[in-house]
This record gives sequence, structure tokens and C-alpha cells, in this order.
Amino acid sequence: MSFLLVWDDKKGVFVDFDALREYMVRTQLIPRGIKDERVLSAMKKVPRHLFVNESMQHRAYDDMALSIGEGQTISQPYMVAVMTELLELKGNEKVLEIGTGSGYQGAILAELSKEVYTVERIASLAKRSEDKFASLGYMNIYIKVGDGTLGWQEESPFDRIIITAGAPKIPDPLIEQLSEGGILIAPVGDRFSQILLKINKTAGKLSEEHHTPCVFVPLIGTHGWKGEDPASSQ
Ligand code: SAM
Repeated sequence: MSFLLVWDDKKGVFVDFDALREYMVRTQLIPRGIKDERVLSAMKKVPRHLFVNESMQHRAYDDMALSIGEGQTISQPYMVAVMTELLELKGNEKVLEIGTGSGYQGAILAELSKEVYTVERIASLAKRSEDKFASLGYMNIYIKVGDGTLGWQEESPFDRIIITAGAPKIPDPLIEQLSEGGILIAPVGDRFSQILLKINKTAGKLSEEHHTPCVFVPLIGTHGWKGEDPASSQ
């Protein structure tokens, strides 16, 4: 189902995005094993269709990544849910996101944590997300334009770090900026396919778990890939 049309005597025919969101959670997230009730509630609440171009809104709850312009993508809902669940957010964390993109993942994080710091290298995307956060009333998201592979030194350390672009390896500055007891989630691999890694930092030591295979646009920067992005799907 890609959209749900509803008749209303006053509004006429319209797309019921609330129903689409419920349907997305019920058919894409719960059956694939997403269990964290807080994550499911945030995914039911945040209006994903407002984070894509108007012409794409009727596809916003489909089981896929979508283009957001500038050769970049908003990740598939399931991938957003998996990454968020792996962060084990309880509500009091300071979170760093690398790759703001549409701002959707940032909004989900803002629902589930205390503060979100998000870095985007493409200024036009960062501006659009900043405007979206303001219009939706998110007061706990801070955004900057720059090379996220360097992290956000002045605001470190972070309890949680999420990289939403495919990395050749975890950037050293991000490991340094992760708190003791912190969790970092990132897609790591080659330029066209990655595996989702979960890193725990305990007593100065790192432990690594491998999760689902995935395909993200590349993380471009000093501690990422060099050069310009080929198209990819997350
Ligand atoms: N989290 C995003 C969302 O909810 O829409 C999806 C992000 S998209 C898959 C990856 C984003 O990472 C792109 O917007 C891209 O420009 C950005 N990116 C790539 N390399 C980056 C870097 N070094 N620093 C910051 N952002 C970067």
C-alpha cells in the first residue's frame, strides 16, 4: 500500500498520513523484530512525510529509502528503527548524529533523548532540516554544517553517536568523543555495501557487534571516503 485515501465532507479526498504511519509500524517494523516501545511510539508520532519533498509525500511511508535531493537519501523506515533501537536510548542522553540529511532521524532521536547534535556537510540540506526542526517545535536539536568525520569537539563527549552514511571505518575523532559507557552505531564497509556495527566503550575498551547488512550513501570527509558521491540507496 503506498497511500490511503480518505473522504471527508469538509476536506474532500485526502491522504491519511496518520493511518499510513500506523500501518508502517505494524507491517514493516514490528514483524521484523523492532520491540522497543519507545522507538515504535516515536516512529508512530514523527510525521515522516514532512521530511521529504511534497511530490514524494505519498511515498514517505513506503518500505524504502527516498531521494531528498543533492544525491542524498532519507533512509528506509526499518533502517531508522533498527539503528535507533540499537542506541538503547532511555531519555537522558546527549546524542551526536553524523549526516542530518532530511532531518527525520534527528527528529526521532530528539523524541527519545535529551539533546541531539547533528552535523551535515551539505549546507542546503542542513538549512532545510533546521527550518523543519523549528516548524515542528524541536528545541533540543542543534545543527551545524561541516565534516562530521571530525565530530563536534566543543560539545563532546556524547553518550551516543550515530553515523547515517556508509563509512570505510569508524572515524577516530568519533571514538574519542564517545563517553565512557557510550554506544556508537555506524554502517561500515566498502563504498556500495556495509554492515551495521554497534560499538560499546567500556573501561576505555571497545567491543564490536555486527548487525544487519545495509547500503548507505558514502560518508565523505577527512576520516571517510574522498571525493563525490555515487548514487546509493539508504
Ligand atoms: N539521517 C538522514 C535522514 O534522516 O534523512 C539520512 C542521511 S543520508 C543517508 C546521509 C547524509 O550524510 C547525507 O545527507 C550526506 O550529505 C551526509 N554526509 C556524508 N558525509 C558526511 C560528513 N562527513 N559529515 C556530515 N554529513 C555527511
